[in-house]
Amino acid sequence: MLFELIIILRPESKEAERKELKKFLEDTGIRYNETDLNGLPVIHIIENPHLLDSRIAEDFSAVNRAVRLSSPSPLAVQDKLRQKKKTISVKGHVIGGSSLTVIAGPCSIESYDQLRDIAFLLKRAGINILRAGAFKPRTSPYSFQGLGKTGLDDLKRVANETGMPVVTEIMDTRDLDIVSSVADIFQVGMRNMRNYPLLKELGKTTKPVLLKRAMDAPVEEWLLSAEYILKEGNENVILCERGVLNAPSCNGRTIMDLNGILDVMERSALPVIVDPSHAAAERSKVAPLAKAAVAAGTDGVMIEVHPNPHRALSDGFQALFPAQFEILIADLRKIRELIQSQEKR
Ligand code: PEP
Ligand code: MN
Repeated sequence: MLFELIIILRPESKEAERKELKKFLEDTGIRYNETDLNGLPVIHIIENPHLLDSRIAEDFSAVNRAVRLSSPSPLAVQDKLRQKKKTISVKGHVIGGSSLTVIAGPCSIESYDQLRDIAFLLKRAGINILRAGAFKPRTSPYSFQGLGKTGLDDLKRVANETGMPVVTEIMDTRDLDIVSSVADIFQVGMRNMRNYPLLKELGKTTKPVLLKRAMDAPVEEWLLSAEYILKEGNENVILCERGVLNAPSCNGRTIMDLNGILDVMERSALPVIVDPSHAAAERSKVAPLAKAAVAAGTDGVMIEVHPNPHRALSDGFQALFPAQFEILIADLRKIRELIQSQEKR
């Protein structure tokens, strides 16, 4: 893959400063052309650009900015280069627009009654999208694996009754038709971020795909997974950060990678949402992480809520009680308003 680099010089930089940079490039084995770009002095790296990190180039006093012209994931970054934010519309709600997206619901569909009760409560709280899994990727084969097709039927019923758009996980290309008959958004879980056949098949559909970041994936690799979907023609990818690994983690807890979130928002115009529930893996930490994610300027959050967390069949320890969730949502909306009023300044 080609990594072409353009180094934009400060017009007022001195000849000696430029010479220092050019000598460095020559010593490093990099061939370049000197040219100008709309009147700005520019050094165009034409050979071996991979030998130069743009941040190193920017350390030189002659340099204003070093810009990589091509990326390993061109489709995931193209709108950003055009300074256009990607928005995705789902049943009247716009993800990536001016309003905060809140996706909420239980980890798993456990029964029609469980799902209906929580869904109506969430609808009353003004939640945009209902989440609930029928196919569950569990670490242990002895854990609850989800209700499968029956769960999808429950989800469809509740989606119709509430009118809420729904996001649900797909793990296997063989389930594409049945999941597609219910889901407004496909969820790709963090374990399947590298399931390339699945990503390619989802790329051939037109429904939005919420792509979770694998716990150990660098931002570049996450964007390459998005690229698999985009390359097949589906432009509707939502990136979802759900915590990354650091030191050996305790009880499933990960680090919500705020730095990575800022990084991906800087590189790509795709909507970015955060799942503080799976990052925290502990109820008491979900609210502070969610607030931090919204304060960082993300497009939304996905939060697990259960009508009775102590009886949940999966992830009950991190599910919020409905009353806790409602307080959190009010706080998140206030933070969002504050962030937006600052952006306007
Ligand atoms: C989930 O959303 O319930 C889930 C299993 O998430 P993750 O893939 O992030 O572990
Ligand atoms: Mn879960």
